[in-house]
Amino acid sequence: MSDFYCNQVLKGNVAVSVVFETDQVLAFHHTQPYFEYHIVIIPKQHIESLSSAHAVESTLAVDFLKAIHYVCDKLERENGGCRVSSNVGDYQSTRHLHFYVHSGKRLRNEDGSPSENIG
Ligand SMILES: [Zn+2]
Repeated sequence: MSDFYCNQVLKGNVAVSVVFETDQVLAFHHTQPYFEYHIVIIPKQHIESLSSAHAVESTLAVDFLKAIHYVCDKLERENGGCRVSSNVGDYQSTRHLHFYVHSGKRLRNEDGSPSENIG
């Protein structure tokens, strides 16, 4: 399974629109969004998922919460609310820890096909 975040985003091979950044985490607009507002938050070092021990190292955990807080505050003010999620193990499409924060209409189904909501 390829690691889109290490191999593309963090190496700069794919341009992303950054929303929030610290020394340890990066928040950016999803490159192929499933929702009208779809932000991805990743660690800058490779960590597989929330079940990895490295995910709870204190400085990283604080930076993650700062990033999640920043994006949630922005989406709540702009859209009234949002959802935060993170997949683990077989639920992951990319085995690099990432949080999704999204709100608004669904644009694509889980399999990537266009949603009925698209006009
Ligand atoms: Zn990685």
